[in-house]
Amino acid sequence: MSAIRFPVPILMYHSISEHSSEHFRTWTVPPQLFDEHLQVLRDHHYTPLTVTQFVTAIDQDRLRLEQRPVVITFDDGFEDFYTHACPILGRYDCPATIYIVSGAVGGTSRWLAREGEGHRRMMSWPQVAAIHAQGIECGAHTHTHPQLDLLPLAEARDEITRSKAELEQHLGQPVTSFAYPHGYHGRAVRDLVVQAGFESACGVKHAMSATGDDRFALARIIVTRDTTAVDLQALLRGEGLRIAPRGERPQTALWRVVRRSRRRMEQVIDLARSK
Ligand SMILES: [Zn+2]
Repeated sequence: MSAIRFPVPILMYHSISEHSSEHFRTWTVPPQLFDEHLQVLRDHHYTPLTVTQFVTAIDQDRLRLEQRPVVITFDDGFEDFYTHACPILGRYDCPATIYIVSGAVGGTSRWLAREGEGHRRMMSWPQVAAIHAQGIECGAHTHTHPQLDLLPLAEARDEITRSKAELEQHLGQPVTSFAYPHGYHGRAVRDLVVQAGFESACGVKHAMSATGDDRFALARIIVTRDTTAVDLQALLRGEGLRIAPRGERPQTALWRVVRRSRRRMEQVIDLARSK
């Protein structure tokens, strides 16, 4: 492990597309803006890495602050990663990690149905194979995108191991990085990810990561449609961001209680509707 602890920005994108509904607008960065973001990284001599390249470089004590490491990640596996993001990444020769919901591959974003976004097209398996061949790291993001920390442990374990196994079956190589849906995880969920054989896992937190962090709770910086090229430069410098504290904040545990009761309420409503 690197002797000196220094901050590293891990960026989190979702969709790269011109088109978006009002509800999903925040999570949809237009291709032109994404291109500007990558230009910022190039102009300021950042070294983009995948998540696994990042944790491996720390293990081998090869990571240096002056290299300006930055990690680029995408969540979910929308088809526009293949059609829009991947060609732009290719132009900048920029590696990235995408976290894929295995059960949604070839289908739509059904887990977003409640928000009216259940129709968004996801990548197909041939598209996943193609981005993998281009050097994009494909990580696991569960099978159906549940809030893992609200599930019974056996179900959470199945979500985690199944997504890993299905991706490995299609890619023909080990899948070593994981991202918690919505970033939600506690100690028990984190332990399941370790037991499943992953070597790293990303949360959200909207904070700067640092070398020496728990690699199963990597903090990421949320990039949205409103993140201009100038905003991105500030985020990369850590302006307005904290360095993620180790462990879970008390608010996070409290918020879990709120989400748990809300989920129970939704289940009651769904049950009532189905009758
Ligand atoms: Zn997600």
